[in-house]
Amino acid sequence: MKSGFIAIIGRPNVGKSTLLNALVGKKVSIVSSKPQTTRLAIQGVYHAKNLQIIFVDTPGIHKPQAKLGELMNAQAFTSLKGIDGAILLVDASIPFGRGDEFIIERLRFEKKLIVAFNKIDQTNITLISQLKEKYAELLPQAKIIEISALKRIFLQDFIKLISTFLKRGPAYFPADVTSNFPEEFHLAEFIREKVLISTYQEVPHSVAVIIDQYKVKDDKRTVYASIIVEKPSQKGIIIGKDGSMIKRIRMQVIQDVEKNMGLKLSLELFVKVEPKWRDSLTRMKEYGLS
Ligand code: GDP
Ligand code: MG
Repeated sequence: MKSGFIAIIGRPNVGKSTLLNALVGKKVSIVSSKPQTTRLAIQGVYHAKNLQIIFVDTPGIHKPQAKLGELMNAQAFTSLKGIDGAILLVDASIPFGRGDEFIIERLRFEKKLIVAFNKIDQTNITLISQLKEKYAELLPQAKIIEISALKRIFLQDFIKLISTFLKRGPAYFPADVTSNFPEEFHLAEFIREKVLISTYQEVPHSVAVIIDQYKVKDDKRTVYASIIVEKPSQKGIIIGKDGSMIKRIRMQVIQDVEKNMGLKLSLELFVKVEPKWRDSLTRMKEYGLS
């Protein structure tokens, strides 16, 4: 059996979580068009005959603005230690920029590296060839592939390429396990995803979700959860006029949990204000973020 750990690295919004979910075949990491959707290094497990690949989805590397941001960058680079290979995921629909140089600098000495150009479903040949030329020059050791995580294009070739980095090893996870985090964590993340999708500007960055109560009975879950924000105005946005927004979020979570986890969910949501929690290490610990 071949097995090993592969980190997925890249700027925010390039499609790291989408790729992880597509490879694992299950929603283990939440996705939204808002930067910094992923806050922790989440592992997703790919199972095949005589092959196990543990993918580590990292928060996107970016210029930090709060302590939470610094923590997220640290998580992204720490996940590079002790791995068998790294994927640098690049959004092939946008031209090369300064933020790209910052990451490349840190990957210069990474021997087992694949540069994967994602979103080929929404780019053009000229842009891809410009990017390829640039990366071949800056990271000459890297193998290069083009994919679409969303449309699942060339993912089997991608798995083959990644497998060349792996050695003989044990099955780190049992065959039915697809993530390193428990069910409760994924449920909190599904709630956060629905909030992110419905909000804009500072609100997505200010949201954390904690599970206050989690009861399990067969395939039924009874859950009390709190959505934490930083300002009363944000609380107002999330509740919405006559509670319309929070009701919609609740319905979306129930549908998502049923579809992706196969569970029946009874859910009560609360919204609480915790000023500046993103600058408080104590609060971040409490919310499971450090
Ligand atoms: P992350 O921040 O790197 O984890 O990026 P996400 O996985 O959250 O994706 C960011 C956005 O890019 C989402 O709106 C995805 O649907 C979109 N996206 C991801 N992969 C692709 C792709 O292959 N093609 C297209 N067109 N969109 C994609
Ligand atoms: Mg992500």
